[in-house]
Amino acid sequence: MEAVNTKTITSILAENGIQVNKKLGQNFLCNDTVVEKILSASAVTGGDRVLEVGPGLGALTERLAERTGHVTAVEIDSGLARYLHTRFADTAACTVIHGDFLRIHCEGEFTRAVSNLPYYCASEILFRLATEYRMPVFFVMMQHEMAERIQSGPGTKEYGALGASLALYYRGEYLFGIDKTSFYPKPEVRSAFMKFSRRDDVPENEKVREMFHRIVKSAFWGRRKTVLKSLTDAPHLDYSREEISDVLRQQGIDPSLRGENLGVEDFRGLAEVFVRRSGN
Ligand code: SAM
Repeated sequence: MEAVNTKTITSILAENGIQVNKKLGQNFLCNDTVVEKILSASAVTGGDRVLEVGPGLGALTERLAERTGHVTAVEIDSGLARYLHTRFADTAACTVIHGDFLRIHCEGEFTRAVSNLPYYCASEILFRLATEYRMPVFFVMMQHEMAERIQSGPGTKEYGALGASLALYYRGEYLFGIDKTSFYPKPEVRSAFMKFSRRDDVPENEKVREMFHRIVKSAFWGRRKTVLKSLTDAPHLDYSREEISDVLRQQGIDPSLRGENLGVEDFRGLAEVFVRRSGN
């Protein structure tokens, strides 16, 4: 097993004629200590079946394959996927898929995901991990600012639709920050490693989950407006002002509050009432 550092990363790139594609969020880990810290925080064991989004040059992939039952690694970049296919051709514990994670569904029962996410589409990947896979836990690296937004709660300026949406499914925990110098090429901002643990009360009813997302989008669509106005005016919901006012009062929510003052339980409660009212 080769150490992960700037020298090994740049020589793999040069030997394989791979150009870094910044548009695909390619900032490769080049710090062995950070790689080990990620693996130890992710607490992977031989029984794990791991999903990795964006393996890049395989800094995490190789060690995941050594320490877990199996890793499925999805890489969008054809040059990187070709390199990974060759590198892991004889590794039975690793399957490399060349594809866009946002456009495919990876078959299999995964016990966890461990990924250093491409930052340009990190929120879409997170949303997909949370809503389309039912892993008990997953670990991801993202921009520090994004991690802070996800961690923040109602009433703070960082709180937004992504944090509220993820909170229906997972509890997010900021584990540690990572300096820009741990990546090649060096990104503009620092990073954060987060743990997401699945909640045991995720609504079983798909209609409730779908309504929850429409309500959250509407509440944040009308930022700085009252929740009554934003839920009435937003294009994602089609209820009259009277109906919305009635449901808000029934749930004990003051209609003059701002949407960003409501927590995940408020949004969930509203979704359940709207779905009940429509007879589902
Ligand atoms: N895991 C590697 C590491 O830590 O060194 C690379 C991480 S780099 C931040 C993100 C990786 O995600 C890049 O290899 C990039 O090509 C890949 N990627 C970007 N968009 C993707 C997508 N939609 N689906 C799958 N992989 C993607």
